[in-house]
Amino acid sequence: MTSSGPAAPSSPTLTAAQLSRLRELGEERTAEVGDVLFRVGDATYPFIVIFEGEVAIVDAVGNEITRHGAGRFLGELNLLSGQTVFLTAVATAPTRYLAVDRDVLRSLLFEDGPLSDMLLATFISRREALQRVQGIGIEIFGPHSSEATMQMVEHMRANRLPFTWHDTNRCSDPAATALDEGLLDADSLPLVRLPGGIELYAPTTGQVHRALGIGRELQPREEVDLLVVGAGPAGLGAAVYGASEGLDTLIVDSGSIGGQAGSSRRIENYLGFPAGISGNELTSRAVTQARKFDARLATPYRALSLEPGNGRHVVRLEDDREIAARAVLLATGARYRRLPVDGLADYEGITVFYAAGPVEGQLCGASRVAVVGGGNSAGQAAVWLARGGALVTLLHRRADLRETMSDYLIRELDRYGVVVRDSSEIAELHGSDGELEAVTLKTGERLPFSFLFLFLGALPCTEWLDDVVSRDEHGFVLTGAAAGSETLLEASVPGVFAAGDVRSGSTKRCATAVGEGAMAVQFVHAHLAPRSPSSA
Ligand SMILES: Cc1cc2nc3c(=O)[nH]c(=O)nc-3n(C[C@H](O)[C@H](O)[C@H](O)COP(=O)(O)OP(=O)(O)OC[C@H]3O[C@@H](n4cnc5c(N)ncnc54)[C@H](O)[C@@H]3O)c2cc1C
Repeated sequence: MTSSGPAAPSSPTLTAAQLSRLRELGEERTAEVGDVLFRVGDATYPFIVIFEGEVAIVDAVGNEITRHGAGRFLGELNLLSGQTVFLTAVATAPTRYLAVDRDVLRSLLFEDGPLSDMLLATFISRREALQRVQGIGIEIFGPHSSEATMQMVEHMRANRLPFTWHDTNRCSDPAATALDEGLLDADSLPLVRLPGGIELYAPTTGQVHRALGIGRELQPREEVDLLVVGAGPAGLGAAVYGASEGLDTLIVDSGSIGGQAGSSRRIENYLGFPAGISGNELTSRAVTQARKFDARLATPYRALSLEPGNGRHVVRLEDDREIAARAVLLATGARYRRLPVDGLADYEGITVFYAAGPVEGQLCGASRVAVVGGGNSAGQAAVWLARGGALVTLLHRRADLRETMSDYLIRELDRYGVVVRDSSEIAELHGSDGELEAVTLKTGERLPFSFLFLFLGALPCTEWLDDVVSRDEHGFVLTGAAAGSETLLEASVPGVFAAGDVRSGSTKRCATAVGEGAMAVQFVHAHLAPRSPSSA
């Protein structure tokens, strides 16, 4: 066993009251030196509190990650989410410990708020520490040029799963050699090796999830009261309110739970969190809450079509699944247009942003900042940042800003000293560890910037709806009067609702998405309520 130094953050300790409650629920066990408490690839493991002794946490090849002694507890986010075990725990001294079954722990978390907060925060920070260690979790083999490989890499990243990507053009693993020698063809890519050694060739993201033990597998056909499509803030808000108010609620998502908000490093304007909250934590809390009320979450399942029906609408999903729902909530949000440059994700949320608020303004004071985009949103952001003391350059691709931006804003840009560069498109980013240093334009010119703000417009995730519901000229779903409905969030098809960023005219913010999701449930109830004889 080699030691690569501790990677996991130190864990807080449990209070005497928490320990005594856990003792009632768990089983006391002992382990001798070398005994394995759980191992990489196990389907599940218990929550473990060490009373005496010491346990080392090691990766699949024996590199030590950390050690835990008396008073500490073991566990990581997969204890709650149910993924396959990524690490091995082995006793390094005679050990006496408490083992609490995972499902029992989950129920306890619903009762004990402080314990839930503490474990969740510790498990999230341990997961983030694991994500920074190479060689833990899932291994993905395939070259950068393979689209399927890069989609799998992106999916793992968005889902915050610990993984290592082996660019097979550059590494010497046997799998890479097999590729090199033509034993594996491009159709078999990527090769995904799970903790424990199982190998999958060209799997779908759903197959990987299911093999890892994450995510509910849906029956070929399911019937529910409310189907929520999209598990961003709007969908999660609807799931919590729908399930807690008695609706049989299923929520599906094609990507990662949390949507755009899940990718935010710190949401500063969410009510009730004055110090801000990371998208990861907000999402984990929301999922725990939704499960508490028995909302069913199933990922990754992409909705492919919506077929309106009399009494039940049918949504067809990837992997030949169909859901017949009495009401459907469209909460598929929007994808902010990203710059088509390599490595963008490394900077997002650190020095590359999609919104300019007070926090970013403060962060950027006296720094060189580029605002990218030619619309009014870009102009407003540039003025706001310049007023805060940043040295702002506005980059846009057209020859004349007047084609896309209001005159009053162009005058404001001038007034606050914003430099405008016409016909400027970014080709490359330079920096390290998420800290941007410069960009190269398509012309080859290199410009020093510490921050980038991207205002390239949002694309609604509505292509799968075809013409089934009315949409505005940008593709966002029309609701209420604009859709010919008397109900604020109802789309043009009765019983189909829309909430959050996907809805035409909505405020594209986290709190409003949650609010709309919650509000939609009230309209769903009204839709499902038996009609009075006079209205029948
Ligand atoms: C980096 C970043 C930082 C942000 N920071 C803030 C902030 O600080 N404060 C703030 O108020 N707002 C912030 N926002 C905006 C905020 O996150 C969004 O307004 C909010 O997430 C919208 O929620 P939503 O549920 O409507 O949609 P989304 O969050 O977009 O979620 C939609 C979900 O639907 C899923 N989906 C899409 N198509 C399908 C399909 N066909 N089938 C199944 N599932 C599908 C997606 O995978 C996604 O998970 C930020 C956005 C970004 C990108």
